Amino acid sequence: MDHQFIRFAFLVVASIPFVNSSSGDRSYTFQKCLKFCEERCSRVSDVKYQSRHPIPMRWLDWNCPDDCRYKCMWKTVKAYEMDHSNVPQFYGKWPFVRFFGIQEPASAIFSLFNGAAHLYMLIQFRKSIPSRTPMFYIWHLYALVSANAWFWAMVFHTRDKPSTEFMDYVCAVSLVFSSLLTLIIRVIGPMRRWLWGSASVPILLFFTYHVYYLGFVKFDYGYNMRVNISAGVLSGIGWIAWSQKVKGQQSYVWKATASILSLNALILLELGDFPPFWWTLDAHALWHLGTVPVIFMWYSFVIDDSRYILTSLQKKSDDPPYTKIS
Ligand SMILES: [Zn+2]
Repeated sequence: MDHQFIRFAFLVVASIPFVNSSSGDRSYTFQKCLKFCEERCSRVSDVKYQSRHPIPMRWLDWNCPDDCRYKCMWKTVKAYEMDHSNVPQFYGKWPFVRFFGIQEPASAIFSLFNGAAHLYMLIQFRKSIPSRTPMFYIWHLYALVSANAWFWAMVFHTRDKPSTEFMDYVCAVSLVFSSLLTLIIRVIGPMRRWLWGSASVPILLFFTYHVYYLGFVKFDYGYNMRVNISAGVLSGIGWIAWSQKVKGQQSYVWKATASILSLNALILLELGDFPPFWWTLDAHALWHLGTVPVIFMWYSFVIDDSRYILTSLQKKSDDPPYTKIS
């Protein structure tokens, strides 16, 4: 029941970005400023504009209209503050102070921490577990898919463009699906390759279709979020249910349960969707920071579980063959 409540909270929280209105970019102050600024842009070529700005801004492809949106956003924020009104969001996001052209520095750096944590723990995993362990390469795939997803999250938070947004969303789904796949393989049993191989095919086909749909048919935020949540919920419930089932013999599985519950609890952070502290640290950035220690706990479970699988296999091979006593 507790879990059901957490899942429900997950659904509620995940739907929040779609009910947030971004009144800032629709305000009169912003629109007037933007119109005036963009008119000036039309008189300057992109090359000339970029040559006046520092190298990081050029590398991150800031052009004149983008810069207008940034400058007009702060002008509007000042106007709201002078008016003692609540600062609104702009284009679905809070105002953030950019740092060397990085749009959301806190979320970008915390995404980098997450990616680095996956790679660091993959190295630890390789040091502790021999490659003959059945799930050895499955966990490699999981770690690389996750590190890749966090890399694109970093890119997206560095520079929000349609292409970086697409990569962030698609790779986030790949992370959720890889968690679902590892669950299926673990539950079925890593040695039953044909069985988990067949069970993985529809999931991989669906994932391919999903990427195709988002890329070539329609970039549908609502549909993407529904897929993400459904796969995430399924995977979370699956890992917890499996942990509950095996906890008698495998006491370390509390780490898997704790990791999943921590992730769900962290998602609640998004409920407090508040304006960023120092115009830098918002709930989304804190959620990205919070997931870093969870990664360490998760791989600690992965290492324990791989050791368990290896020991059980060794025990089986050490057992004397069954002989019928007549
Ligand atoms: Zn993010």
